[in-house]
Formats: sequence, structure tokens, C-alpha cells
Amino acid sequence: MGDDSVPATLTAELSAAVEELRPELLRLGADVVRIPSVSPTFVGETYTAASTGELKVVQRFAQSAEAAGLKTDVWEEMPGRGNLAAVWPAAAPGGRSLILNGHVDTVPPGDTRRWRGGNPFSGDVADGWLYGSGACDMKGPLAAAFIAIRALRKAGVRLKGDLIFEAVTGEEMQEAHLGTTATVRRGYRADAAIVVEPTNLEVVPAGPSLLRFRLTAFGKACHSTARHRFVHPSADEEPIGVNAVEKAVFFINRLQELEQHWGHTKHHPLFAPGQFSIHPGLIWVPPESTTMPAIVADQCVVDYAIRFPPDRDLEVEKKEVEDYILTAAQLDPWLKAHPPKVEWYFCWPGANLDPEHPIVTTLARAHEAALDRPAPVTAFPAGTDATYLLKEGIPAVVYGAGDLAHAHAVDEKVSVAQLVAEAKTLALAAAAWCGVA
Ligand SMILES: [Zn+2]
Repeated sequence: MGDDSVPATLTAELSAAVEELRPELLRLGADVVRIPSVSPTFVGETYTAASTGELKVVQRFAQSAEAAGLKTDVWEEMPGRGNLAAVWPAAAPGGRSLILNGHVDTVPPGDTRRWRGGNPFSGDVADGWLYGSGACDMKGPLAAAFIAIRALRKAGVRLKGDLIFEAVTGEEMQEAHLGTTATVRRGYRADAAIVVEPTNLEVVPAGPSLLRFRLTAFGKACHSTARHRFVHPSADEEPIGVNAVEKAVFFINRLQELEQHWGHTKHHPLFAPGQFSIHPGLIWVPPESTTMPAIVADQCVVDYAIRFPPDRDLEVEKKEVEDYILTAAQLDPWLKAHPPKVEWYFCWPGANLDPEHPIVTTLARAHEAALDRPAPVTAFPAGTDATYLLKEGIPAVVYGAGDLAHAHAVDEKVSVAQLVAEAKTLALAAAAWCGVA
């Protein structure tokens, strides 16, 4: 059989099998949403082996995987923070292996009273949506990935490569060492992987590099009644005061200019123009400087979230930003003598798989065959575990049901129609990629 197409008869059989499994998909999706699995690493969460629900979600998936006849392996990298790898071994040689990967942890739901019925973990299905924290990101799409495997088995397909289902912990707070990377280190490797994050059924080979840095601007403290002596040209040789807040604003303005410049200098074929950005997210005066507006602050901090193209050298990109800040400081006598401090403190490297890689084209064709419409091939704006699979040498693409706009939000939800569509596409993609004996 062709290496990346399946016969029309099998396409129809797999679609029918997924339709028959719709009740099982909704039951599994609802069950896993009803088990709270907030990442215990979020600020304000307390971690104990008993309080974290990640392992419980993993065990629920493992129960279904065992019932379906897969070889399951559940283990904990930290107490309560579990992973599942469930393997369907190849029935015949000569094909390629595939991983279907998703995370079971979620962000905190916030004020529960703001959710439908006051319950963030309802798992309710209403009006074509599955509701609850993690329904979209990404326990729902992960349930759909499992149903794809069920459909293949139900249709009697025999694959020529191993198919591995992974439910992992530790994605939301960038703890791949506990989840996806740990899974690879335990020996679960394949010729390709599909990470089923909610891409709205778009085929996503790329994501930006996400970095954060802290800029601290320095001033000189004095009483604000002396403001007239430093905001107008003054005879004072040494300024009596320098407002660090306004020096920080100076840098915010300069970095907005750099961001504009990026609009026409930083491109990637899968990203919209202007998607590489320099976002001033937080600004504050540290309490050790002053807590009083009547005092001229001598320190002001701005925290930035920044998006680089995934195909650029991060050290070169970081240096460009730092040089721009320090060059801007040369324009101001005070800043020249008192340059700001720049500290990088977060880095989620981008994902950048060739859009012509066979797993991308196979997945796009499967989407087209299953859903009878072309697959958009795009970039994903958020960090995913595809980065960490790629780092381990496993070609990884992202594809799943759900709109990112509904993730990390009150009344999080995922479209049932999209979950069904995802399962159909993934069943076909697995058959095409692994090969059918
Ligand atoms: Zn996610």
C-alpha cells in the first residue's frame, strides 16, 4: 500500500467506527475532565502526592487502554505526577512508528463561582460542547486521540508500525522533564509524533520561541516636590532626582519602535506578519525603592514576554534586544552613566518542523480525506511539548480539536464535532503513517 494514503474503503470504515464510538469518546472525555488535575506547580497551588490529580487522569486513560488491549506503562516521576505510555505493537514489520501525545495537567480554574453551575469540573455535554477545565486544553483532544486507536482496532486494522498513546504530566509549567521528555528517556521513541493540542484542526509544524526578560531602569530618589528641578532644563550639574518610572517608559517606547521594525524584518512562512512581538507585560516599582508616589522612585522594573521566530539562533536574537536597549541608553546622559539591567529568565524554545516533512503531509492528507476539506497548515502561537520531542530527535507536529481562545478560560469548552473530526483524522493518519498489513 502507498506510504501515506489509505484506500477509500478504509477511510469510510474508520469514519464509521469513530461515529459508533462517539458515546465512548464523550464518556471518556467527561470522565477525565471530572478529575481535577491542576498543575501543582502554579503559584498558590499546594503540592502533595494526594492533592495532585495528574496521576488519577493518567490512570483513567490507562484503564481504557488496558481494556482496549494495549500494553500500558504507568509511572510517576514525582509522587502523584504520573505518565502513561500505552503501546499497540506492530502486527507486521516494514512500517513506521507513531506517538500520539498529550498532557493531562491544566491551569487553575480561578474563581469557581464564575463557571457554569459553579463547577469548573462538570464534564457536561450541552449544545454540542464538552465543558470543563481541561476540556479544550487538552484532556478532550487527548480522549479523541485515544478513540482514534479504538477505531483502528474496531475496524480490524493491523498496523505495520508501533502506535504509542501518551498521557503525560507537567506541560503547563514547562516541566517536560517530568512528562514528555521523561517518556522519551524511558524508551518511548517513534519515527514521528502528533501532539494533540487544540489547534482548531489546523496542521501545525511550527511554534514561536517564547522568552521573558526583566528590564530594571535606575533613577535617583528625591522628594517629588523637586520635580521642577529635573523635568525642565536645569542648572544643576548633577540632577537632584531622576524618575526611574519615566526612564522605564523611555525604554518601553524604544522597544515599541524595535517591535515595529520586527514587523518588516522577522518573517516565517507559517506566521502572520507581525506575530513576532515584544510585549511589556508588567511594570512596577519595587517596594525597596518606594511605595509612595510622592517619592521619586530610583528603580522601576518592566517584565517582557517576547516571541522570536523558531528558526533563529536565540543567543543572537537575545543579543539584538540587549544591544538595542543599551544603544538607546546612549541617547540619554543619565542612562548612559546608569544603564539598565536586563535579565532573561524564561525560555520555551520554538518548534520548527519542515512543513514538507512526511508526517506533516501525511497528517494534512488524512485531514483532507477524513473531513473532505483541505487542511490549513499554520503556526501555533503557544509553546507545546512538540519542542521537547523535536529536541529528542522525534519529528513532531501539532494537531487537535479545540480553539485556543476557549483554553485557560472560564467555561472552557471543546466542540464535540471537532473531537469526532480529530479522531477520524488521527485514525487515518496513523493507518497511513504506520502502514496497514
Ligand atoms: Zn496544552
